[in-house]
Amino acid sequence: MVKPTVGFFEFSCCEGCKLAVLELEEEILGILSLVDIVEGREIMDDRAEHMTVAFVEGSITRSSEIPRLKAIREKCAVLVAIGACATIGGINAIKNQYTEEDVRQYVYRDKGHYWADTIPTRPLREYVKVDLELYGCPINGREFLEAVTALLTGQTPRVKDYPLCVECKLKENVCLFHKGQFCLGPVVRAGCDAICPTLGDACEGCRGLISEPNVNAHVGTLAEHGLTAEDILKRFTMYGNYVREERKLDLIPPEALRR
Ligand code: SF4
Ligand code: SF4
Ligand code: SF4
Repeated sequence: MVKPTVGFFEFSCCEGCKLAVLELEEEILGILSLVDIVEGREIMDDRAEHMTVAFVEGSITRSSEIPRLKAIREKCAVLVAIGACATIGGINAIKNQYTEEDVRQYVYRDKGHYWADTIPTRPLREYVKVDLELYGCPINGREFLEAVTALLTGQTPRVKDYPLCVECKLKENVCLFHKGQFCLGPVVRAGCDAICPTLGDACEGCRGLISEPNVNAHVGTLAEHGLTAEDILKRFTMYGNYVREERKLDLIPPEALRR
């Protein structure tokens, strides 16, 4: 039987999502018996002409990345965007608050900043058709395995689209708001098993917003608990800057902050 072929690709990112896959260790050996990996910078030098599935991490932050992404799209049957960078722009999208000239100046100062290639950060779906998005910074290994299993068996992978608070409650955690902390759980997509609140840290929204979040209601909650307008904006900007642009979200209604 001819095995499906798989490639891994990266754009602007830390490549931590690929590491999350490699860290699956025992499970990855099972996958390797079912597929042939035909391209992957850390794994091999080969360049494949065609492949069944391309897993792509990283966001598009330079114009020179666009033709390469389109070429990958042309040679794969299924393109899966993996990680916050590839699906929601990730922390790279923080730079979208500034002009391109300011970004060049900040990074390169007087060392040739005028020629540096930089454009507003975008997730992959802005430039090519994406068949599946796996969220998180980094992605969740279990979710990756479930998606691969579904793809290999001809099923449609299912990605969660309900708030993180659901998973947090299933874990029987005491809500961080009762401990004087702030959390984005009510508007953030579940799927990570609420790992941060379970370990005592606030959710910072690395999996992005659910499809229909009541953002302004949560802005009101954060303000009621004492978070300043500036801090609220920072929390929604860390991973959510692109999504705020995309959905034209007005995050801080003055009436919420006057309470
Ligand atoms: S989503 Fe996070 S872990 Fe993955 S590549 Fe981007 S910065 Fe790295
Ligand atoms: S800690 Fe965060 S995720 Fe958990 S219930 Fe509270 S707001 Fe929701
Ligand atoms: S709890 Fe929030 S910040 Fe932590 S991994 Fe899950 S979505 Fe990301």
